[in-house]
Amino acid sequence: MSLFPTEVDVLIIGVGPAGGSAARIVAESGLTVLAVEKKQAIGSPVQCAEFIPLPMSAYAAESPVRLQKITGMKSFLPSGETEETEFPGLMINRQKFDEGIANKAKEAGAEIIEGAQLTDLDAERNLATVTWNKVTFELTYKALIAADGPHSRVAKCLNLPELDTVSTRQYTVPLKKEYFDTDIWLSDEYPGGYAWMFPKGEWANLGLGANKAIDSDLKAPLDRLHKQLVEKGLLGEEIIYRTGGAIPVGGLRDQLSIGNIIFAGDAAGLTHPITGAGISAGVMSGEMAGEAVSHWLKGDEDALEDFEEEIRDQFEVTLNRAVKTRQWLKKIWRTQQAQEDKVMRKGWIAFDEYMKSDNIPA
Ligand SMILES: Cc1cc2nc3c(=O)[nH]c(=O)nc-3n(C[C@H](O)[C@H](O)[C@H](O)COP(=O)(O)OP(=O)(O)OC[C@H]3O[C@@H](n4cnc5c(N)ncnc54)[C@H](O)[C@@H]3O)c2cc1C
Repeated sequence: MSLFPTEVDVLIIGVGPAGGSAARIVAESGLTVLAVEKKQAIGSPVQCAEFIPLPMSAYAAESPVRLQKITGMKSFLPSGETEETEFPGLMINRQKFDEGIANKAKEAGAEIIEGAQLTDLDAERNLATVTWNKVTFELTYKALIAADGPHSRVAKCLNLPELDTVSTRQYTVPLKKEYFDTDIWLSDEYPGGYAWMFPKGEWANLGLGANKAIDSDLKAPLDRLHKQLVEKGLLGEEIIYRTGGAIPVGGLRDQLSIGNIIFAGDAAGLTHPITGAGISAGVMSGEMAGEAVSHWLKGDEDALEDFEEEIRDQFEVTLNRAVKTRQWLKKIWRTQQAQEDKVMRKGWIAFDEYMKSDNIPA
């Protein structure tokens, strides 16, 4: 077994899109960086519907990552009425995507250790406790990036509140014809979320997200939707992969920068509270976090506070609108109103009504 480092300039917790991106930037700046990932293999098991918007395509340039193009979105309303909108993007192999980002970080000189979990943090002494191969190690850091996802251990160690999340359940199933749209179902069957079908060649990711506090059963509605689409001849019955996971939906944490610790990606609360999309924000905020700690350790005293300000400038308006919409919808689920198309239109990004926040009562 190789020796675990005892000190490092920058410690990164979690190697998803945010942590991997941060690790590359820090390594490129010449500082020493260790990123620890509790999964035994980066990106596996996949917990994702695997869609990225077109501006992210540079990160999916190579064939094992890029699966197929997406051109549109079909949004199905409760009445069955459908809205078709442009929605350019790509379906990716998420495991290869995360691996690709991590490999670039390694090439730049970052050390990445898989199967290593942060278990404790003494922020006053800059001391992290990590368990790896059942052995516990302690190491000191000068700056730390928390990129450890929706249930951030770093946040827990700092006694910060848990992020508000929705739960998801997803099947990968055979797709019977060529398809280039992402299909979205808006319905009271999925309170606090929606259902989706994202095509990837001969397969599709069929899933849903919902607020378990309103309805804890995600399996029955997903099985019903699967059955309907099998009967229509669009999907096959076989389920080759099952996944799920939590998606933060409460918007940004109150603080993204605490002393020499900063938060990126899902751990910061950057996932879009209506769509659940967070890969793009994960990569962007990871890169920004990497820049910020590198500048800070090289003498720019304001770099960590600037990071927080820049993240808020870039994401907060969009996130706040989505949070406000969620709060309004929360009062509507499981009432007659949730069966009305005109109400659901205000709650989903594909419709013009979504952008008119005056439409949403305070
Ligand atoms: C079912 C589902 C479908 C989704 N579909 C999409 C989609 O199609 N498009 C999209 O843009 N977004 C999607 N998302 C959201 C997207 O996956 C996240 O926003 C994205 O992964 C955020 O990246 P991240 O690096 O911040 O966090 P993560 O990818 O969650 O990475 C955090 C990493 O930290 C590790 N970790 C956690 N705790 C510790 C610890 N104590 N020590 C060491 N390591 C730790 C975790 O194992 C994990 O690998 C989906 C999410 C779910 C659950």
